Amino acid sequence: MTDQLSPQKSKFETYQTAKTRLKKIQSRLTKLDDLSPDLKKLLSCKPGDRCNTEACPVCLRQFRKQLPLEAVRLGISDGDWTAASIIPADMVYPKGKLRDADLKAIRKRVSKWMDRSKLSDKVVIGGIDISFNTRSNVPIGWQLHLYLLIKAPCTEELKQQIRKAFPASIEAPRPYRIKAVASGSFKRVLTYSYKSGFYCRSQFEKSDWLKRDGTPRVKTRSLSLKSEQELELLGWLAEHAIGSRLILRNLRRATPPGCKNLRFSPTAPLGKLDDGLSPRSKGRKRRR
Ligand SMILES: [Zn+2]
Repeated sequence: MTDQLSPQKSKFETYQTAKTRLKKIQSRLTKLDDLSPDLKKLLSCKPGDRCNTEACPVCLRQFRKQLPLEAVRLGISDGDWTAASIIPADMVYPKGKLRDADLKAIRKRVSKWMDRSKLSDKVVIGGIDISFNTRSNVPIGWQLHLYLLIKAPCTEELKQQIRKAFPASIEAPRPYRIKAVASGSFKRVLTYSYKSGFYCRSQFEKSDWLKRDGTPRVKTRSLSLKSEQELELLGWLAEHAIGSRLILRNLRRATPPGCKNLRFSPTAPLGKLDDGLSPRSKGRKRRR
């Protein structure tokens, strides 16, 4: 079970866990005919010849491990951060149609939303998450959502800016969940922002638990994906190089997607950006 905004419930997986997950996936894939070239790549992932696809638990673990290291190297891991889980409008794909989800186009759309918003000068790091959603046991489809960390204190003003920046899904019971990142937990929350586990989110109405307006509240449970859902997701994830779900604002990847080593660099001139970079780190950058 995972909660939409509960990194404390999610432990970073060990190498052994990731390896066991990959072995399970590979043993499943060997039994299938007509594998796509991407899934064949995943099937042959091994030490020294890694697949570097989003579908691979081992490659994904390696990538996620580097996220906090990069934040520390840039000197942005300290200070105030706000975590926002957002379910945006028009990001649902029916069962069997996940291949229509164009990650590059989605990243561009998210970037445009931030361009036009008050968040444009903030440092943002996060990921695109995905779940298969059902409502009262009726399938809705694949829902893509955002989990973003914004380098700013979690004020009411910031919450408003986030709600204004990202148009929300009208179907989602709680499209925005925003809260301050607790002191000392930034690194854990950052790895959590780029998910490695994917679930079916089952929503159901609680007729005995009503909102102020008298309508039932909606509860959500995270369940394991069904076998055919898992296979559809694996096929889609395998099409994408590792890091393709990454959202960055005022930072850019200095190494291309799929590259084993992850490096970020600030995009705007240092000092002009509301980047929260520490003076020490700015000095270090200038000397380069
Ligand atoms: Zn791999």
